Amino acid sequence: RSSSHFPYSFHLSPPCSHPIWYNTKCIIIIIIILCRMSRPVNASRFEGKVAIVTAATQGIGFAIAERLAKEGAAVVISSRKEKNVQDAVASLRSTGSKRVEGVVCHVGKEEDRKNLVQFTLAKFGRIDVLVNNHGINPVFVDIMDIDEKMWDRLFETNVKNGWQLSQLVAPHMKVVGGGSIIFNSSYTAYKNPTSGIAAYAVTKTALLGLVKALAASLAKDKIRVNGIAPGVIKTKMSSPLWDNGEKTGEDNTVLNSEILLGRLGVPEDLGGAVAFLASEDASYITGETIVVAGGINARL
Ligand code: NAP
Repeated sequence: RSSSHFPYSFHLSPPCSHPIWYNTKCIIIIIIILCRMSRPVNASRFEGKVAIVTAATQGIGFAIAERLAKEGAAVVISSRKEKNVQDAVASLRSTGSKRVEGVVCHVGKEEDRKNLVQFTLAKFGRIDVLVNNHGINPVFVDIMDIDEKMWDRLFETNVKNGWQLSQLVAPHMKVVGGGSIIFNSSYTAYKNPTSGIAAYAVTKTALLGLVKALAASLAKDKIRVNGIAPGVIKTKMSSPLWDNGEKTGEDNTVLNSEILLGRLGVPEDLGGAVAFLASEDASYITGETIVVAGGINARL
């Protein structure tokens, strides 16, 4: 940011004019600069709205939940492990997000999916936003060497379970006059994928189609369906791609993946994109997937 664009101009009196006033001014300037560095969120686009985020106890899902809550939403987070859910809820509440609840939901279990929806309605009475953030890649092998069971598991979790959750949630969005469903795809959906993650990438390409198909079906109920396609984001899941225990691991990934912005992504980079897509600011956008990848060339 060049100084000519800095929105505040300060005219400091020389210290000799009044030392106490001068020191106070300096402290105020430092506080404003620090606030601007920590990505403050002032919007309240989700006041009165209720959001569900799957797989949200760490990484990208957690950052999405945090962002929606900061913008005023009541948020229900979930993942497979009770302890993770409890810790994440406590962490979100400790940073000021009071209307946050959590419940266990393994997205592959029908009972858990139904319970997630019922839990949300019981706590907050409505559902406006569903973020199908979940996605797995438990193996790193060539696509020709994946066994059938693993192939099915990848498609079941990454594609089918989000469609099932959307089926469950859509009627509740319809009764409140509409809503927004967002899927977490990946930049790998668009690329000639790295050998070890090719099957995972195919599931993420399938999500581009699922987003379009659901958008077409649900538009009549004023439910918009969109996706995000993150680049290489620093989380536990992606750590085999960039963590060799040294800074060179990150630098090599940035170089090899041709990330124009010169850094790996962080989960917060996705929070803003999801908040935009879920909000009224994106009221004329449906069926789209936005690539959030620091400039990686990702196109079909
Ligand atoms: P992460 O940091 O490793 O977090 C994974 C989360 O998923 C945890 O909260 C985990 O909690 C939960 N989880 C795992 N399996 C689950 C299941 N079957 N049902 C419900 N929750 C489950 O992962 P991430 O990197 O944030 O990835 C999140 C999404 O972003 C995925 O869809 C991924 O494909 C996508 N993505 C990531 C990147 C990247 O570079 N990181 C890039 C593109 C796309 P529990 O262990 O408690 O279940």
